Amino acid sequence: MSSPAAPIQTDALIIGAGPVGLFQVFELGLQDIHTHVVDVLPFIGGQCAELYADKPIYDIPALAYCTGAELVQRLQQQTAPFKPVFHLQQQVMALQAQHDGRWALRTQQGTEFLTKTVVIAAGVGAFTPRPLGLPALQNLEGQQVFHTLPTKPSVQDQQVVVVGGHDDAIQAALLAIEHQAASVTLLHRRSTLDAEASLLSRFDQALSQGKLKFMTAQITDGLLSDGRLRGLQLALPDGSEPTIAVDQLWVALGLTPQLGPIAQWGLSMSRKQLVVNPENFSTSAPGVFAVGDVITYPGKRKLIVSGFHEATLAAFGIAAYLRPGEKIPLEYTTASPRLHRLLGV
Ligand code: FAD
Repeated sequence: MSSPAAPIQTDALIIGAGPVGLFQVFELGLQDIHTHVVDVLPFIGGQCAELYADKPIYDIPALAYCTGAELVQRLQQQTAPFKPVFHLQQQVMALQAQHDGRWALRTQQGTEFLTKTVVIAAGVGAFTPRPLGLPALQNLEGQQVFHTLPTKPSVQDQQVVVVGGHDDAIQAALLAIEHQAASVTLLHRRSTLDAEASLLSRFDQALSQGKLKFMTAQITDGLLSDGRLRGLQLALPDGSEPTIAVDQLWVALGLTPQLGPIAQWGLSMSRKQLVVNPENFSTSAPGVFAVGDVITYPGKRKLIVSGFHEATLAAFGIAAYLRPGEKIPLEYTTASPRLHRLLGV
């Protein structure tokens, strides 16, 4: 039997790879503090990447205009000299104080960390799949019901039903066809789909070739027998309530942010935000700092530029916490040989 992997040990762990978490990597790097970064999404960038990758941002200092995706790419480039280790598709569930003053963290996926300091940069929360909300189907998750869609699905001879009306739902329906599902049905509560033109064109082509069905419908119940999902009860706009057969149900209703476990960690909170000291962005627990949209203090504004300021002061606070008694000097990146060495320039 293989023994469980030893916890990953580090000086600083950042929860959240949004723009503020990424800039925190940079600012801690300038303090010569290496970071591990955990995010539940499969990519970095938080809201900028998930919610508005192609939309323009006009209020980043010295950048008259950039898209969400471009900002993330620039932040990644800026953090590169400090070689952060990203742990993506991992949701931090537990944060526990240790006797030696360190913090133990565990992700839902089983990765464990032991860290001297934690920075919570969790924004509006962990982006997790929006649930279908049918209690009867809860026990079938991962067997016949999938909220996280398989990249290599096993659907041959299976009747696949996909729920959703955006890019990911259409991509899922096309993927099921590609993997030779016996039948593919896309259900959406509206009669129109909202997706990229190229995807819609592929979808229309598959529809006209009879490779899939599209229904405007809502699922009202799952029909089970012998513990297996056999059919779905639907509600149609004309008031009828037909049932359709199903072997696999893929739920692609998008992602929704959940503050989730963070609210259970015993940290001081106000209106679902972490209360911090705006001098150094420490929370109510020693060694635990917080920055970005997840925090509150007098005058807090949920803007990227505010988060950048918070990450800068938090890095000074963390350096002082890790090196008690040492002076933490202010140095300019233009002139400091020490910072140039850290930056590799
Ligand atoms: P987020 O970007 O929310 O990132 C937090 C990350 O933490 C997420 O990736 C999440 O998955 C992860 N996470 C949370 N909990 C966990 C956990 N337990 N385990 C693992 N990972 C976790 N701001 C501006 O300044 N200018 C603008 O023009 C602007 N336009 C916007 C447009 C839109 C449509 C929206 C929605 C927001 C806009 N904002 C804008 C606000 C800006 O996006 C936020 O202020 C910024 O994203 C906050 O960054 P953050 O890093 O604190 O959090």
